[in-house]
Order: sequence, then C-alpha cells, then structure tokens
Amino acid sequence: MNQPHSKPETYVLHRSSLAIPPRAVRGEGIYIFDQNGKSYLDASGGAAVSCLGHSDPAVRAAMHAQIDQIAYAHSGFFSTDAMEELAEDLVTHAPEGMAKAYFVSGGSEATEAALKMARQYFLEIGQPDRKYVIARRQSYHGNTLGALSVGGNMWRRKQFEPLLITASHIAPCYPYRDQMPGESDAAYGLRVANELETAILELGADSVAAFVAEPVVGATSGALAPVPGYFKRIREICDQYGVLLILDEVMCGMGRTGTLHAIEQEGISGDLQTIAKGLGAGYQPIGAILVSKKIDDAIANGSGFFQHGHTYQGHATACAAALATQRTIRERDLLANVVRQGELLADGLRERFGQHPFVGDIRGRGLFRGLELVADRETKDPFDPARKINAKIKKAAFARGLMAYPMGGTIDGVRGDHVLFAPPFIVTGDDVARIVDLFELAMNDVF
Ligand code: PLP
Repeated sequence: MNQPHSKPETYVLHRSSLAIPPRAVRGEGIYIFDQNGKSYLDASGGAAVSCLGHSDPAVRAAMHAQIDQIAYAHSGFFSTDAMEELAEDLVTHAPEGMAKAYFVSGGSEATEAALKMARQYFLEIGQPDRKYVIARRQSYHGNTLGALSVGGNMWRRKQFEPLLITASHIAPCYPYRDQMPGESDAAYGLRVANELETAILELGADSVAAFVAEPVVGATSGALAPVPGYFKRIREICDQYGVLLILDEVMCGMGRTGTLHAIEQEGISGDLQTIAKGLGAGYQPIGAILVSKKIDDAIANGSGFFQHGHTYQGHATACAAALATQRTIRERDLLANVVRQGELLADGLRERFGQHPFVGDIRGRGLFRGLELVADRETKDPFDPARKINAKIKKAAFARGLMAYPMGGTIDGVRGDHVLFAPPFIVTGDDVARIVDLFELAMNDVF
C-alpha cells in the first residue's frame, strides 16, 4: 500500500491544485453552507444545474422511495418504471417531432451519444459518406474527446488537438460583436446562418452529417441568445442539404430560459436534442437525448440497435430524481417564476451595470442572464486575458458569499470575459435583489 510520509491536505485531485475549495456540508433552498458555516447564495445553480435549489423535499422523497424499491438495474437487462415514466414525461413535453428519450449521465455523454447516433442514422439509411460535423466558434459541447472535437472554444481544445476528430466551425450568432452598424436583426441572422450553407458546400453536401449548436449559448458566451429568424434559416439549410440538426440544450434547456426548451422560442425543432443539467436539478447525474421519429424509425427499421451504451444509462434513482424535478417544476408553475424573476434580474443588472465602464453587454433570457465585460465600452476591446478578470470576479463574489459563473471565451483569437447568472427557479424578488447587491460589491472589489 502507498504510505505517504506526511498526510497531504487532500487526496482528491481537484480541478485545480492551486486552491482547494471549501467543503459544502449542507444545502438549504438557494444556499450552500461550508464547513465553517459560511453561506453562499447559489446564483449560478453551480453551472446552471440546481434549478430547484438544494433541499427540495419532493425530489428527496422520490429518490428515497426509488432506493427503497431498487436503486439501479443495468439497462442491458431491465427497464424500470422510473425510466419509462421519465421518458414518457420528456417526450410528451418535447418539441414537435421527438419520439424517444435516450438516457445518459451528463452533458458530455449526451453530445457523444448524439454524434454517434447521427452517424449511425446515415449508415442505417444508406448514406455512409456523411461523416462531417459542423459547429460554431466560441462554443462548448462537453469535455470528452468527441464533444471537445465539435466545440469551438480554442482554449479548451488546444492541448488535445492531436486527439480530436475533424469538425468545422462557422460564426456564432453574436450580435453584440458581429452585427454591423445599420444591419437589421433579420439581415444579420440570415448572414451568419448562411455560413452554414457555405460550410456544407465546401465540405461536400453529401458528406456532412450534422450541425450542432446551443440555442442560447451558456458556458462560452454568457447567455447569448440568437436574433429572431436565425434558427429558422439554420433549419431550412439543414433540411435542404439533408444535414441533421443537433440542438445542445444541456445548459439552456429544461426551463432555464422561461420555456421548457429554449428552442421553443425559435419556432423550430432539432432532429436530436441534448438535455442534462436542469433535468435532474443536480440531485443525481443524468442527461438525455430527445430523438426524433425519423431517427428512431431509421434505427428501429434498420439494425434495430444503437451501437452505444454506458453502465449507468437510465439509472433508476437518477430517473426518479429527474421525474420528480420535472413534476415539481410543473406543479409549482416554476416556469412562470423563471420569467418573472428573470425580468427582475435583467432589470436589476441593467440598472446597476448598464452604465458601468467595464460592462459591454447585458443579455439573456429567463433566469439565464449574462454580462460581457470589456476593457473599453466604446471599442468593445476585451480585457487582456493575462489580467484573468473572470477569475478575479469569481473569487471576489465567492468571498462575499455569492456563486456567479464567470468564464473567458475565445473568438478568432479575441478573448472576452463573461459572467453568467443561472439561479434556482425558486428565487424570490428579495433573492434577486440580494444577488445584484452582492455582485455589485464584488465588482467594486475588482474594479
Ligand atoms: N454542452 C453544454 C452546452 C454545456 O454547457 C456543457 C457543460 O457545461 C456540456 C455540454 C457538458 O456537460 P457535462 O459537464 O455535464 O459533461
């Protein structure tokens, strides 16, 4: 046995070895408490996960009941009531055209499975040449190799580049930075969506399998919503060239933007749609792919077998937690609260930071709101990455007992700093006011 000479401070290989995080010992509503009794207002839902806060009685009871019946049964041998009922719940509330739910344990796994399902679909229907995937710059679809391959965040990709599969990237829909003076939303949306057509033609129309995009971009761009019409044009192009549309709603989905699915606000559906974080509200690790009828039919009428699978897919306790989460959101009409409190949060951020010298943009939908930080509001020049502004904001907010999710994205080599707010759907007006107050203190600490 490995006997260290002196006991290290931790045996955990943490995300960073530079600072060991405090221990979360208790959760109550929108607060997390550490070992010293300090409270943290979870204004980011972790990473847009904890949509019911940290002590929801209905979810806890559902998990207990499930564990008392059966905690886990391998999906290669059994289905369970929890998995069947959750799938029915998801499909009956899904965007038009979705027929089945395929379960996984998180967002990256969902992306991986969606990419493989897209590839297998084309094999089933006799189009084996379709292999390329197109995504957008400044995007993130997960950290496993396939998901990282399609992601367009160069910082995350850089050192793993030799291991990645080929994918192409087009412009994101990023009006704050790319809409030209005098250009209407409609013209801008069309211009950037048409980049997809150009990319498809360059790669060869018969060789592209799928286009992947987040309806509202979270982790790389701070709640960046598309202009109206952008996704309609994307859908048209995909249909014209027989390319599958994979919508990544891992972060923006399951109510976060005020509708159950963010894409509902764009008036289209994808062919595959990934969901994860808010699905189980963090009570258990779970993700899923919503699968359209045409893909389900192609596999069912072809090989009859999706060549994929993970040990924990459809985990009974995770499915029970997710089902209780989704029922709770409906029973408590929490989407209405997402819209109401989301407007309050947006108003509060605009009122406090609308004229802030280092805040370039305030954006988002529902309880998914972001700020873009800039060194100069006029030129929109981002901060020098070496200043690590986003890390400083995170640290200052955390010290003040506020969890805000800051990140730096990259686009064409230009880096931007963003802060994302994604508080639980149960927040009150007072909670929202406190988020804005604490964040203002943190901003004053940094600037
Ligand atoms: N897709 C999007 C849009 C995400 O934001 C994330 C995580 O932040 C993922 C995929 C990956 O999810 P996970 O961290 O659960 O693997």
